[in-house]
Amino acid sequence: CGIVGIIGREQVAPLLVDALKRLEYRGYDSAGVATLDFGVLDRRRAEGKLGNLDKLLKENPLGGTIGLGHTRWATHGAPTVRNAHPHTTPRLAVIHNGIIENFAELRAMLEKDGYVFETETDTETVAHLVTRALDRGLAPVEAVRQTLPQLRGAFAIAIMFKGEDNLLIAARNGPPLAVGYGEGEMYLGSDAIALAPFTDNLSYLEDGDWAVLTRSGVIIYDESGEIVDRPVQKSAGTA
Ligand code: GLU
Repeated sequence: CGIVGIIGREQVAPLLVDALKRLEYRGYDSAGVATLDFGVLDRRRAEGKLGNLDKLLKENPLGGTIGLGHTRWATHGAPTVRNAHPHTTPRLAVIHNGIIENFAELRAMLEKDGYVFETETDTETVAHLVTRALDRGLAPVEAVRQTLPQLRGAFAIAIMFKGEDNLLIAARNGPPLAVGYGEGEMYLGSDAIALAPFTDNLSYLEDGDWAVLTRSGVIIYDESGEIVDRPVQKSAGTA
């Protein structure tokens, strides 16, 4: 339901939770955070209020200056820790807002290829589809480029890749998703409110857009793969 992502310079886990708190108004049943820390991809997830995730992170912190955070409003699969986002494979972590309508056929195809599912979510198909493209030798940007046309439905997604500590890729087809611009830091968020503590320079992706974020910049592609300019809006965090 709520999406945040940060490639920054400070420890991001507490910042991600703060940003998720600003998205609480959207409603949610569980929440999670994943980071990359010296090459290790790890996550914490909790049912219920963000306070539960906060507590978990205090007891068992996650380091790292790149990460993803999510509040889930379950559509496919019960609101359990196991179904909470981020979803991971040995290669990546994914968060998703919306519904992948063709998840059942994608899942059947991926299971035939030997990919093992851990959850009942529609989202996990995205994790394995991109992983399969990477397993076939594609670089992350190409893997996402080839995966997006296979997805039907409404989604805002963000992906972080193991071994790529200066890369987040996001896509939008339906639910809103904004890219925030900082100085040597870049952000993703469901709306300007989530990103208000970090930056007031942001661009909303349009439907079909996908974005490649590094600490030094953002490239936005449209559905046809052309690089596009999306207007940078000044927001006071009230948009
Ligand atoms: N369909 C996904 C799920 O049930 C995402 C739901 C959401 O937008 O939070 O896990």
